Amino acid sequence: MSASVAVPQARPVAIPMSETLPWLIGAAVLGLLIYYFIGIDEGATSVFGNSTVVHEFVHDARHFLGFPCH
Ligand SMILES: [Zn+2]
Repeated sequence: MSASVAVPQARPVAIPMSETLPWLIGAAVLGLLIYYFIGIDEGATSVFGNSTVVHEFVHDARHFLGFPCH
């Protein structure tokens, strides 16, 4: 005696490029901003001038990720 059981199959979902492109660009811009403020924004190259507010805010993350600091 054998009974056939319908096993659900996984089907790939096609996501159009026009729907994913804004999310990809947004994620890339956000990632680059985070990378800049954690890793690069310091001293003369700082966006906010000679202020140390941003630098001190991300200071622990900078050291944790191994960016040169001081
Ligand atoms: Zn430091």
